[in-house]
Amino acid sequence: MSKDKPDNNSLKQDTLAVRAGSYRSAEGEHSESLILTSSFVFDDAATAEQRMALSQPGNVYSRYTNPTVRAFEERLALMEGAEAGIATSSGMAAILSTCMAFLQAGDHILCSRDIFGSTTVLLDKFIAKFGVEVTFVPLTDLQAWKDGVQENTRLLFLETPSNPLNEIADIRALADIAHAANARLVVDNCFCTPVLQKPLELGADLSLHSATKYIDGQGRALGGAVVGPKDDIDEILGFVRSCGPAMSPFNAWIFLKGLETLKVRMQAHSANAQALAEWLQQQDIVETVFYAGLESHPGHDLALKQQSGYSGVLSFTVKGGKEEAWKVIDSTQLLSITANLGDAKSTIIHPATTTHGRLTPEQRAAAGIADNLIRISVGLEDVEDIQADLLRGFDAIR
Ligand SMILES: *Cc1c(COP(=O)(O)O)cnc(C)c1O
Repeated sequence: MSKDKPDNNSLKQDTLAVRAGSYRSAEGEHSESLILTSSFVFDDAATAEQRMALSQPGNVYSRYTNPTVRAFEERLALMEGAEAGIATSSGMAAILSTCMAFLQAGDHILCSRDIFGSTTVLLDKFIAKFGVEVTFVPLTDLQAWKDGVQENTRLLFLETPSNPLNEIADIRALADIAHAANARLVVDNCFCTPVLQKPLELGADLSLHSATKYIDGQGRALGGAVVGPKDDIDEILGFVRSCGPAMSPFNAWIFLKGLETLKVRMQAHSANAQALAEWLQQQDIVETVFYAGLESHPGHDLALKQQSGYSGVLSFTVKGGKEEAWKVIDSTQLLSITANLGDAKSTIIHPATTTHGRLTPEQRAAAGIADNLIRISVGLEDVEDIQADLLRGFDAIR
């Protein structure tokens, strides 16, 4: 006899993060199983016919469904207050699949200018190739969003907080603009995760993730996900099933376990980043610190309203230019020089020559990416060790 299961609708987010979506085989394993198989076996030919025709529920092939991937999708969707979720092979695959599901030739997508670099390329170079118009607007300029909407606008797409300046978009106001135009608002919620921000509660239609970042949290696996209303997720699922950017069961298993510790990690990342930001503000060699947790940040009040924490990414300018910024980066011994973020290990990077290196100097200036800007994704090390690591570089350029 098996115990009755609690109703997920009655459970709080922290409980869902640990318990939701898990299922148990006849072996009775406690930790979620990793079902590492490409296909599933049918009892007889008639079952095969019905399963393949989707007239009988059940697994067929891991590009369609896989129990471990399903468990991750269900858990993430419940944590984000969404009806359904779909996992993809990477964050970019989540964005691509969303575009493929909802855009066709002749449509228009309005996107924030301050967006993940590959997202710009995906829209500007590839989606545009299929006759979809793409316009970029400054993230926090509501008038520019309003003015940018066209009759054929189907999607508004943004990322908040932005990378690396921590600008904050007003999700509710942008949802209103999208809905007035009969378009969907899609929010890349990678920086906050459902622990710190729930875009759907603020009016967004879809929320998507690079699970590669905080959801894994330890830099091991690539993955992505989209959550939202079931009908919308089914549209995306149709693309993923037929076209192939499905999540590997192994990666889903890593992310499923990642969700269990996500809240404590996000709180620790936020606390470390806040302490580092406040310390950086006091350094004479530092000009400006960009972190929404600081009262001096222009997005602070809005972040306070729509987020329950400020996450772990901050950036700052040092006195001087590229040479000084590079010297600070090269003087670190502990921090990893890598573009990745959302890892237990702190990372440091020079945006102007890496993540934003593709932009022209004018585009960089418009986006506020100065040559003396440094980005840190604050990890889970002791913040005093991170400070000591930076001080070496600060002393070198003083
Ligand atoms: C990393 C990242 C992506 C892309 O995710 P991948 O898993 O690397 O494909 C998309 N959006 C944001 C905000 C990211 O940081």
